Amino acid sequence: MKVIIDSGHGGSDPGAVAFGVKEKDLNIIFTNLLASQLQQLNFEVDKSLINDKNYTPNELTDLIKKSGAKLCISCHNNAFNGSASGFEVIHSIHTDGKLAKLILEEVKKTNFPIRRAFSRKSTLPSSVEQDYYYIIRLTYPQVETLIVEFGFMDNKDDFKMLTDPEWQKRLTSAVALAISKYASPLANNKTSILGESILRPSQLKSALKAANNQAILDIVDIYYNIAPIYGIKADLAFIQCLHETGWLKFTGVVKPHQNNFAGLGATGASNPGLSFTTISVGVEAHLQHLYAYASTKPLPTGRTLYNTRFALVIRGSAPNWEDLNGKWAVPGVGYGERIVELQKTILEKYLPNIPKNPPVIQPVHWAKHYHDELFDAGLLNTDHTSTLDEPASKAMVFALISRLRKELMNND
Ligand SMILES: [Zn+2]
Repeated sequence: MKVIIDSGHGGSDPGAVAFGVKEKDLNIIFTNLLASQLQQLNFEVDKSLINDKNYTPNELTDLIKKSGAKLCISCHNNAFNGSASGFEVIHSIHTDGKLAKLILEEVKKTNFPIRRAFSRKSTLPSSVEQDYYYIIRLTYPQVETLIVEFGFMDNKDDFKMLTDPEWQKRLTSAVALAISKYASPLANNKTSILGESILRPSQLKSALKAANNQAILDIVDIYYNIAPIYGIKADLAFIQCLHETGWLKFTGVVKPHQNNFAGLGATGASNPGLSFTTISVGVEAHLQHLYAYASTKPLPTGRTLYNTRFALVIRGSAPNWEDLNGKWAVPGVGYGERIVELQKTILEKYLPNIPKNPPVIQPVHWAKHYHDELFDAGLLNTDHTSTLDEPASKAMVFALISRLRKELMNND
């Protein structure tokens, strides 16, 4: 993940000044330390805003947005009345402040005084709620920006620590560690093409039916039958089909008769791409294309190669859905993410069809065996299996004894 670090002030703007020290000079120390610690934690760090320049709000936030970073840490030091003290983090009103809280937790472990993590709403007239601090407001939502106020320069105790190289390192490494804890699930959030489905066929059928009531739902089963042969997640493969065919409405250049469910080879109106003889063959060709991207193994034994573009794929070049961006779809920004997102939407919207009353297995009655013997022998005229525990009338008992007596006499 890419992080951009901003040193807060510069040029003609020194920021706070206390005990003869300018905030902008202190911020340069903190930002350089933070950058190198993040780099050690394998982050890509944009250091272009660690400098002694003064930017207008728009200049600064445009640079942040253009950096391609997902996260911006703007580093500052406070000054107030000499007695206020401690570490502060300001996050956007649009986030839950998870990272801000993580940073405070890590800083707390250093025993540096903690003040608060907070967000602040703008009071300016606006149709939507906005952040008060421009660097957060103007970079939202492209970049998650946090303002870190390491301490109060005009507080004697804070100042002592803020200007101590050991404390500077401790504080910035606490921030770096919190960022890595926050970002590690984000950095590894890719979804593999190979694996097991999460959705059940019934959920996909419900979703498809709702979006296109003309669609033949059996195609879902075809995906679920063939995808496991290739070790591919059937649900996501089918969702890609929905994505490529406009929920099987074929509104693009590929037409239904082509049985081309993933736009294979289609580049435009003059070239609608590959055609396949049957739906099953078309589905398998689609899965073969995914297999080419996700795996380096040969085709599973006994399978026929239907996909004439298979050899054009660099084998194993996209093991995850997100890796297909710029490959399956060009430019394809967010292509794989959209497919994975649709899986989540369907999962939340359509519950799987689980039988409400599963069949209850009744234990066999201890006397069923006797009943069946008498029934087979013709001594009982009707099946009493379901009423074995009910009392018998005198009439029934007499009839049974009489039949039994005749039976015994006949045998003599
Ligand atoms: Zn400042």
